[in-house]
This record gives sequence, structure tokens and C-alpha cells, in this order.
Amino acid sequence: MDKNEILKKFSAEPDRYYKVKLFEEQGFERKSCSRCSRYYWTLNANRNNCPVHSDDTYSFIGNPPTSKRFDYTQAWKEVESFFVKNGHASVNRYPVVCRWRDDLYFTIASIVDFQRVMGSKVVFEFPSNPLVVPQTCLRFKDLENVGVTGRHFSSFCMIGQHCIPNSQGYWKDECIDLDYRLLTEQFGIEKNEVVFVEDVWEGGGSFGSSLEFFVKGVELGNAVFTEFQGELSKHSELEQKVIDMGAGLERFAWITMGTPTAYDCCFGPIINHLIQKVGIDADSALLTKYFTAIAKNIENYDDIFVARKHAINDVVLTEDQVNRIISPLEGIYLIADHIRTLIFAISDGALPSNVGGGYNLRMILRRIIGTMDRLALKLDMNEMIDMQIDYLKETYPELEETREEVKTIISLESERYENSKSRMQKIVSKLKQEPSVDDLIRLYESDGVTPDYLKEMNAISEIPSAFYSKLSELHQSAKRDEQAQLPLEGLPETELLFYGDDPKEFDAKVLKAFEKFVVLDKTSFYARGGGQEPDHGTIAGFNVVDVNKHGDIVVHELQGGIPKAGGMVSCVVDSKRREGITKHHTSTHILNSSSRNVLGSWVWQHSAFKEVDHARLDITHHSALTDNEVAKIEEMANAKVKENIPVIIENFDRGTAEQKYGFRIYQGGVVPVKSIRIVSIEDFDVEACGGTHVKSTKDVELIKITRTKRIQDGVVRLEFVAGDSAQEYVKQHAADLEKQSAELAAKEERDKLRDQRKAKAREKIPALLEQVSQTSDGKVDEILVSAGKFYSSTSDEYDEFFHVNFGEKLVKQNPGAVYCGIFEEKGTVRVIIHAGEETSKQKKAGDIAKAVSQILGGFGGGNSRFAQGGGKDKSKKEEAINKAKSMVLE
Ligand SMILES: [Zn+2]
Ligand SMILES: [Zn+2]
Repeated sequence: MDKNEILKKFSAEPDRYYKVKLFEEQGFERKSCSRCSRYYWTLNANRNNCPVHSDDTYSFIGNPPTSKRFDYTQAWKEVESFFVKNGHASVNRYPVVCRWRDDLYFTIASIVDFQRVMGSKVVFEFPSNPLVVPQTCLRFKDLENVGVTGRHFSSFCMIGQHCIPNSQGYWKDECIDLDYRLLTEQFGIEKNEVVFVEDVWEGGGSFGSSLEFFVKGVELGNAVFTEFQGELSKHSELEQKVIDMGAGLERFAWITMGTPTAYDCCFGPIINHLIQKVGIDADSALLTKYFTAIAKNIENYDDIFVARKHAINDVVLTEDQVNRIISPLEGIYLIADHIRTLIFAISDGALPSNVGGGYNLRMILRRIIGTMDRLALKLDMNEMIDMQIDYLKETYPELEETREEVKTIISLESERYENSKSRMQKIVSKLKQEPSVDDLIRLYESDGVTPDYLKEMNAISEIPSAFYSKLSELHQSAKRDEQAQLPLEGLPETELLFYGDDPKEFDAKVLKAFEKFVVLDKTSFYARGGGQEPDHGTIAGFNVVDVNKHGDIVVHELQGGIPKAGGMVSCVVDSKRREGITKHHTSTHILNSSSRNVLGSWVWQHSAFKEVDHARLDITHHSALTDNEVAKIEEMANAKVKENIPVIIENFDRGTAEQKYGFRIYQGGVVPVKSIRIVSIEDFDVEACGGTHVKSTKDVELIKITRTKRIQDGVVRLEFVAGDSAQEYVKQHAADLEKQSAELAAKEERDKLRDQRKAKAREKIPALLEQVSQTSDGKVDEILVSAGKFYSSTSDEYDEFFHVNFGEKLVKQNPGAVYCGIFEEKGTVRVIIHAGEETSKQKKAGDIAKAVSQILGGFGGGNSRFAQGGGKDKSKKEEAINKAKSMVLE
């Protein structure tokens, strides 16, 4: 739908769509802008243009229109107390990681808190009506503006004023009255300064009018009244109308403080601290002029760098002033903003990575480091995190709990970046020309090279404006799996017996049977879901091989045939299989919470798979698990099993469950139903889950982690077994261990015996010498004697020690003899030669060793009396001996 068309239609009937009671009571005048003809409402008779086209744009910088001054923390207290005193509930912020929507990674607006997707429809669920919420929102598409424009943030606090117009709620008149009084009474802004501009909003098939409110050219908030659905030409009123008023808290603080930028008043003492640390000599009059100029210029140019150049020209800044003051200030603002975003995201369980929403977090951390490097800023990351949390906890006390976790993740991720720099340097040095936006995206996605790094390395002059918006588009929303379409029109919802009495044998009516599929009126067969594999069994005697849910209808896949539609069939669920799957399922819950307790608050279930005899749990974690961590997780899980904690299943209204337990319940992903099933193991683990569970933790008997593996950046897989499979695993493992230790013992025994034999051989040297001296030809205890002159042995009973000692003594006793000992050691054959004093004059030991070693395929040598050598060819031992013998006896 064309927004302009809707606006044209609505503005043609202002009394019907825009004229609220306040305008009438106060005497607001409706005017049309002389520049853009846009309609706006004002009390100022002299005003001729809409706020965007007025001269007063950003004139509050250096000259705030209020007598009171409120920083970020105080501004929220003012807003909150105003709405509470006017009948609103103040609701705590929701996580910035949007666990309740599978089409968003991050919470991008306060209204998202209360949107739940049901099929293709978005419904609103309010914990109170009306309400106000300080919702931290993350947006990554304007990153190049952050720090530069004075007002763009990667995360900001959206003041959400939300209301459903029913018996407790209100509609346009009261909403605008409240917003007007918030500005004028609570913040003390002059009535003349408040301008309401007519606008419209449309999205997700619905639309409505809206009034944006401006002060001094700055849009402070936008009250959207969503009331219609359908096409403009053919629309109807929504059953559930809703007020979505979103206002930027940072701007409320800024307008009362009148600082050069919104950053100066929204990070508490941090900006001043950093300015002093870096030593920027900033003249506030100059900054006021410069940031007013850039604020005005942004409206005129699409490209922020062009706008920046014009602002520099307008204020006449020298290059030295830009380098000394503006660039480092922009760096400080960027760093403060990006750290705040990381604190919220990591506290709420997101991890920097190269997938999904983690992309943006890794990107902004690398921008922080890149900016520090480029500007040579020496800043302490942990100190900055501490200062931010100390300031933010006034409004968001929950951040205190994850202070250390945030530091851990940021330091780990910074280290990774530093380690990857030399690799990135190589990639950058190979670049032949200035990369395009697509090249930049590829460089970041496949090699982790950020444009900030390229800028730091002078490989690009500026980061193209389109880069961040394109990257953020690519990684903004998650993908959903598509399911095969089956002809199931007109069939009623299947009654699910497994949530009730759960009979393993039952009779049911066949509503439809086609191809290999059967639909019954009711079923006890668990359909694949939440990572739990389906039940097997029989329907009318045919094997059930798969079961899936299509919407509310359970479809059974059969093998070997299908029964006729219309008749009754008897069904049997394989209860042994079900039992195995159920034990593995409950074990997944136990392991998930054990992992979080052992590793850190960032651990969430990424996905899970539960079969009859094994299961796996993928968790979000930054590194591969150590043996010690695995042991601790398993130990804690089994301690919980032993405690025999009852597994309680209760049904709650979704909103009630979220308020009672928080968003931790969505471990298995989004639950698209209003009434949700909460599975709790005391406070240890509470999850929204539709799977089958044991009655008490002891029923899973035992949990054994069989293997862990880092399967992608930021995700670790735990493979495990429970119940019978775990008992079997332990038995098998014990048997394996036993077998291993038996083999080890046998080898030790063999070694021991050999050593004993060798020791004995050494002991018998004197006796042996005696014996051989009495023999001239023959064999004496493995020693071959030839012609009383050549003695040799290849027996493996004898070792090096024996040959060296026996040979030496032998040739001393018989100076005309030669001794040749051959033995195996560490896979090679070795040779020891001793020649007696007389013999050695003609037959040198060294020559014999050389010749013998050659035969064995190696080398040898020595002097005339003693030599050694060897080779690898074990089959040539006899040939080697014969060679030596012939050399001695010829
Ligand atoms: Zn205008
Ligand atoms: Zn579960």
C-alpha cells in the first residue's frame, strides 16, 4: 500500500482522523507547510513551515527550551512518574534479543514486546493496559551515522506508551493529551514550541493515522493509532485497535540539556571521562556550531560523508581542527554507543559470531577496536564496561547480574580479533582495487575483514553508506522452514491423547487415508516436534514409520499399506521406543540448565534432537568445551537426577508465563499458541515445551555425555545418552577399559619376561665364555662357533649390553677371534663387531661392520677393534652373518 495515498485520504478528512480534543480545547491551528504542503497543528500563529522545514531546527543545541535539565537516567524517571501518576503500569524492559518472534533477532521497537505471531497473524498481548516501558531497541542499519550525526545510536531507549482502547484503555484524545502534558507540564516545554504533524503508519496488513510531535525541529515521538486492516479502498476496522506511541528517551534528555550532541548527555560520566583521557581540547561554542550544522545538513544529503564535509565548510573548520577535535570525538561517541549495545545484547544472551544476529555484534565490537587503533586511543575496555553498567543500572538494575559475563565475552572476542589480524593483513595486501559494497560484504562475511579495518589500513577512504544497511538487511531476520503441503482441507483438529491419559493402545476413526498417509480423529502417536522424534508402532497392523503435525492435524506415515477411510482402527504405540525418547528429552532440559550453570549466562539451547537411544543438545557458547567443563556439566546433571526432583507440567496463559518466568522459557524457540505448557524442574529448569517427559528426574537414571564438538561459531554440540542407553554405554565403556587394561597388563608381562631373560643372559656371560673356549665348532647356548675363530649370535635373547660385554671379553680371551652380534632394536637391525688384537691386524672390525650393514640396507663403521652398524632389512640377518663369517675365515 502507498503511504502517501493513505495520508492524502486521511488529511482530506482531518476532523475524522486527526482533530483530537486537545487541539480544540487549546486552540491549535491546522496549517500546511509552505515548502512541502504537509499538514501540522500548532499554537504558534507565526509558524509557516512544518518542523522539518523550519529555521528553528536544532536551535535547542546550546539553548535548551526548558528550565529543567535531565540526563538519560533522570529523563526516564520523569517520563515514568508522569505516566504512572496518570494510570499507567510501568513495565520492565523486555530482552533486546527477541526470543518470542522467529522473524526478528533483536527487539527493534517497544511495540514488538507485545506482538505475538499466530500463524500469519500478529496479535497483541499486553501485561497491563495502559502501560509505559523503557524498551532498549537495537538497530544496525545506520551504523555509519553513529557518533557522527549527534543523534544516531545503534541502541536506544524507546519510551513505549501502549494502550488498547477498551474498558481500561483510551484512544486518540487522551493519548495526545497525555503526550502534550508530558512535554509541557512534566518537561516544562513552552506550549508554543510543540508541533504535531499529520502522518500515517502501515505494516503487516494494518494501518492507521499518526501524529508525530516535534520541538525545535526534533521529532520527540510518534503516536500511531492502528485501527484498520485490508486495502485502502476496501478496509475494515480492526477488532483489536492499538496505540503505539514510541518516543526516543535520548532526545528527551538532549532537548533539556542542549548539549552539542545527544551522546554528551546519555552516557552519564563516560563521555567526559573519555574526552579527558584522550585529551581533546574541545571548545563548546565550536562544538555547538559544528553539531548544529551537521544536524541541519543531514536532511539535505543522503550520504553522511557529504553532509559532514558541508558542515565542516559551513563552520569553517581547519583540517587540523577536524583531526584534533571532531574525529576523536566521533570515535569516543561511537565507542560509548557500541559498548552500550554490546552490554545489553550479551546480558540478554546474544554472542558475537558469524551467523544470524551475532554478525552485527561482532561487527560493532570490531568497529570499537578499529576506531581505537585508527585514532590511537588507549582505552580500557573493562573500565568502560564498568562505567556504563554503573550508570545504566539506575534504570536497568538487571545489568549488574551479567557484568562479569559481558567482560568475559568482550575480552575473548577482542582477543580473537587481534589474533586474526595478520591473516586479514595478507588478504588486504592482495586487494588490487578499491572494493565495491558487495566486495566489502564478502570480505566481512567470509574473512571477517571489517570496512573499519580496511579504512585503518588505508585500503578504502570511506565506508560506503550502503554497507551497513545492506549487511543488516542480510542478517536481520531468521528464516523459517517450509513444510510440504498435503491435501488436508476441511479436516478437524486432531485430538492429542499424549497430553492426556496417553494410552499406548487405542481405537480411532480414520478420517482420511491417501498415498501412505493416515489422519485419525485422535492419536497417542507423538508427532515430530521440538526436536523430539516421532513415535512408532502400528495402525491397523501397518507399521507407523513417521508422524508429523501439519497445523493442528497429525499425519501418520505408514509402511506396507493404509486402512480405508471411515472405519475404526486399532492402534498401538511402541512404548519402549517412547520411553527411550522421553528419557532423552527430559535429560536435554537437565543438561541445558547444567551447561548454563557451569559455563555462563549466555548459554541457551540452540537446537536439540531426541531419539530413542541417543540425543544431542546444541548450546550457544563461545569456545569448544574442555574435558573439565564436560565433566562438571555431567556431574551437575547427574546430581539433579539423583535428587529425584518432580517434573511438573502446567498450562499457562502465554502472557502470564512470560511475566512469571521471563523469556528463558523459550529455549526451544517461539511457541505459537496462547496457552503454553510449562515444564519445570523446580527453579533449576523452566521451559515452554510440548514434548513428552518423565515424572521425576530419577526416571532418566543416568546421563552420559559421549562427545562434544564446536559445530559452528558460537554453537557447541553435546551428544549424550540417558536411561538404558547410558547404562549400556557405561557397561561398554567399562568393558573397553577392561580390555585395554588387560592388553596393557599382557604387554607389561611380556616386557618383564624379556627383561628377566636379558638379565639372566648378562649374568651367564662368565660361564658362557668358559663354555665357548672349549668349543671350536658348534652352538653353545645360541652362540655359533666356527673354526674357533668366528663367533656370532642373532638370538633375540641377547641385547646390546650383552653383545658389547660378551664380545669384548671373548676377543680378550681369544685375540685371534672375531665376534659378531646381531639384534633387533626399535624396528631396526643392529650389528656389533669385536675383533681380537691379532685378527684386527688383517680383518678390521670397521670393514666387517661396513660390509654387513650394506647387506642389511644400512651403514656401519668403527675402528679395527670395535665397530657397529645396522640396517632395516630384518630378512637378511643370516646373509649378513655369513658375509662376516666369510670375511673372517677366508
Ligand atoms: Zn515541510
Ligand atoms: Zn522439552
